[in-house]
Amino acid sequence: MGFSLEKAQKAVLKTQNKGVADALDVIMEPEEGEQPEKEAEPKEQKTKMIKAKWECAVCTLINTNGKTSCDACCMAAPEEAYEVMEEKLAEPKKQDS
Ligand SMILES: [Zn+2]
Repeated sequence: MGFSLEKAQKAVLKTQNKGVADALDVIMEPEEGEQPEKEAEPKEQKTKMIKAKWECAVCTLINTNGKTSCDACCMAAPEEAYEVMEEKLAEPKKQDS
């Protein structure tokens, strides 16, 4: 925990030195225009597309129905079943392992 000295000074000014308790109240209140907890913005937007053909990780069925869940066992498609559409379409990555 902690707050900046600047903020503390502002708080004291706001409360006109009435008391530490008042100042602390002000410190604890978020200032206008200040958003300490921003909504997490997606840094990069990637579009995931289900592949035309993907193998279920559970029952190994090859799904070609374009769905994101297995036709046979209703298991959600694994990560590998998706194609990530990125802005720059580089040549298909070779598996590095
Ligand atoms: Zn399955």
